[in-house]
Amino acid sequence: MTIDLRSDTITRPTQGMLEAMFAAKVGDDVFGEDPTVNALEIKAAQIFGKEAALYTPSGTMANQIAIKVHTHAGDEVICDQTAHIYNFEGGGIALNSGASVRLLKGDRGCIKAEEVAENINPTEFHYARTKLVALENTTNKGGGAYYEFAEIEKIKEVCLKNNLKLHVDGARIFNALTETEQNPADFAKPFDSISVCLSKGLGAPIGSLIIGDNDFITDARRFRKVFGGAMRQAGYIAAAGIYALDNHIERLAQDHLNARIIGDILSILPQVKHVLPVHTNIVIFNLKDNITSAEFLRKLKEIGILGSSFGKYTVRLVTHLDFSTEMLNEFEKRIKATFCK
Ligand SMILES: *Cc1c(COP(=O)(O)O)cnc(C)c1O
Repeated sequence: MTIDLRSDTITRPTQGMLEAMFAAKVGDDVFGEDPTVNALEIKAAQIFGKEAALYTPSGTMANQIAIKVHTHAGDEVICDQTAHIYNFEGGGIALNSGASVRLLKGDRGCIKAEEVAENINPTEFHYARTKLVALENTTNKGGGAYYEFAEIEKIKEVCLKNNLKLHVDGARIFNALTETEQNPADFAKPFDSISVCLSKGLGAPIGSLIIGDNDFITDARRFRKVFGGAMRQAGYIAAAGIYALDNHIERLAQDHLNARIIGDILSILPQVKHVLPVHTNIVIFNLKDNITSAEFLRKLKEIGILGSSFGKYTVRLVTHLDFSTEMLNEFEKRIKATFCK
């Protein structure tokens, strides 16, 4: 039995999800005629208390479209230095939007209102025009950390005072909301746009959403076409998204519990220097300097456990829908037998 903890994107559709996909009613979504895509978009808008939503093939496209709508070439985006939009989207902010980026040193990927305020350029012609603040919640490189809502409200005040838009990369937003127990619509209020991945912890095979007001989504729909992301009978995959929103949110708490147990198991290993506090479904740990992440991952692979390198001495493990209690028990047994000798 292979225990794959590389990412929460590796899950396969469940039987129930596959049945929902098979049963989907479809039409041409470029004509606005796919009833299942339309239902997914309406559902997403309602969950987050916004006017509209747009289905996209990936989270990267969702973020890049949002940035494109909010900025013009020569504008500047403020985000944390570890942000996915900056590090893992192929330089898309520069390539797609011609915008520059101001990177802040946040705490585990979370930035503060005060730092945002200090990094807004003066409105004088020497400077790039600061236009957008982009948060990430939960943070990927930050190891699944999430924002306190009070800080988001402070950031929003800074945005309002300085005429900036506020976007959140919510690839794992339901992981954050599981912990804070906040209603998605309350969370969404300060944001001009929200991106959400259906293909991470929620277990859909494909798909993300962008959510915002009608004007924003009208522009986003245009750029989705420009980026090549307008699809035809997409209802077959959108049905998986609807199923995921209906069935796979509540169970995220189980992923978080499993991640905390994994963190506890790792923290007693002689090879492990430090496990970052486990907030949601991501476990990041640092190794002692006599073993690199490449070597540690090789040893893990020999015992049928897969993880990913997050630096020379840093490893990331992610729990998900296809990681069972049986696998957790196996994980503990194999790890202890191999590393606690
Ligand atoms: C995975 C991820 C994305 C992008 O999702 P893709 O569907 O892989 O393009 C965006 N932001 C964060 C924080 C992510 O973890």
